[in-house]
Amino acid sequence: MTGLAAALAAHLPGFLARQRWFAAKGRPVRSVAVATEIPLCTGGEPYLDLVLADVEFDDGSPVQTYQLLVGRRSETGDELEHVVIGRFDGWTAYDALWDPAVTTWLIDAVRTGVEVGGVQFVPEPDAELAEGVPGRVVGAEQSNTSVVYGDRSILKLFRRVVPGLNPDLELHRALRAVGSTQVASVQGAIEGTVGADGQTATFAMVQNFAANSAEGWAMALTSVRDLLAEADLHADEVGGDFASEAYRLGETVAVVHSELAGALGTVERDPGEIADAMLVRLGVAATEVPALAEHADAVRAAFDAVAGLDAPIPAQRVHGDLHLGQTLRTPYGWLVIDFEGEPSAPLAERVRPDSTLRDVAGMLRSFDYAAFHQLLAWQPGPNEPDAQLSWHAHQWAARNRDAFCDGYAAASGDDPRAHAVMLRAFELDKAVYEAVYETRSRPTWAPIPLASIARITTEIAREIDTEIDIDTDAGVS
Ligand code: ATP
Ligand code: MG
Repeated sequence: MTGLAAALAAHLPGFLARQRWFAAKGRPVRSVAVATEIPLCTGGEPYLDLVLADVEFDDGSPVQTYQLLVGRRSETGDELEHVVIGRFDGWTAYDALWDPAVTTWLIDAVRTGVEVGGVQFVPEPDAELAEGVPGRVVGAEQSNTSVVYGDRSILKLFRRVVPGLNPDLELHRALRAVGSTQVASVQGAIEGTVGADGQTATFAMVQNFAANSAEGWAMALTSVRDLLAEADLHADEVGGDFASEAYRLGETVAVVHSELAGALGTVERDPGEIADAMLVRLGVAATEVPALAEHADAVRAAFDAVAGLDAPIPAQRVHGDLHLGQTLRTPYGWLVIDFEGEPSAPLAERVRPDSTLRDVAGMLRSFDYAAFHQLLAWQPGPNEPDAQLSWHAHQWAARNRDAFCDGYAAASGDDPRAHAVMLRAFELDKAVYEAVYETRSRPTWAPIPLASIARITTEIAREIDTEIDIDTDAGVS
């Protein structure tokens, strides 16, 4: 181990625990070891090293590897104080993404295409990249760290590094190759290898920066707020109605799906196998969330209905973690961002072809969240939310879910609602996951997925009753 690696290892536990992107916050760390240390800039201050730190936990759960670009200067100003990792041997070591000299160096390296110590800075063919501007770190609460260069480029440094090509880069490259305008075009990457056997790893990705854009989640929340504030009006009557945006978003997602299928192909999956995975997740969730018990039979029946489908399920590469927070509204239309997939899932699962309905369901769940999260904010505390507000939130969610599906159907020729058994199962599967997540980390939000589970299972039951009635009527006539 080098002196730098040893000194960093001593300082990193404290530093990591303070970072928003450190995914294991609160879990006792047994040790942090510097697994890789690649000097990138050695000619003078600031010195720069790419560092991969392996974090071991007290509970014996799998080691996680985090990436840092570590800058070193003999003196640093106040502007770097909040990202200082430690001081040793006359150096101050800090997170270098906040150092303009380093961000300038990084984008120049990608633009010119260099290789340093096995790390490749790769521009895409005919890349258009910012030049001559330092980057500034985006303030967003992120699981990675993004740096914006003027209004031209955005570099995302992946904080969790696993062996293999990151699906965010893989899918963005595939979409660039087919000329997609529904995503922020990838313009370059930083890549290398990890581990003793030198497996591919993705360290960073550079895309076009979508200037003057708004996040879908923020826009949806504003729309809901407008509606709740105008309690006498309907969702289609208030100024901030979101339905036309939801419709266009549906169109955009359909086009992305079609482009991904065109670029990377389609396969078929066995409905029984998809249902089995849902049933396993439900079983595990039920042990953690007692409130799921009253819905478990109905949810299980919805998953069994998937297993009972007799045709294989069309599958392809999908987004995998689609929700309103993964969309940007630019002055020209919607963009879908962040194709990393479900962050906590292993890479093999994230790159597996899946039904496009899983993404559609993710977005439908997000409309519920936008509507009912606002409602919680309006009526915090133990009291039941006001009935009229609650009715409005339902109306907003239903209207926008439908508009999204209408747009998706118009662009793809295939209405997601026509696949009700699959679509509802995916929605329930997601809501079960959310119920666990919320119970663990934000218990006051747990009623949102639980209420959705109740709504969906009630809808299914109502339809089954109606079908029985129709059958009975048919028998009588
Ligand atoms: P999260 O953990 O929140 O999913 P992440 O680390 O995976 O974040 P992204 O989702 O890719 O990162 O981006 C984070 C935020 O940066 C987005 O919500 C958006 O506000 C902004 N952003 C991302 N890509 C672009 C882009 N191409 N143009 C403009 N802003 C962008
Ligand atoms: Mg994101």
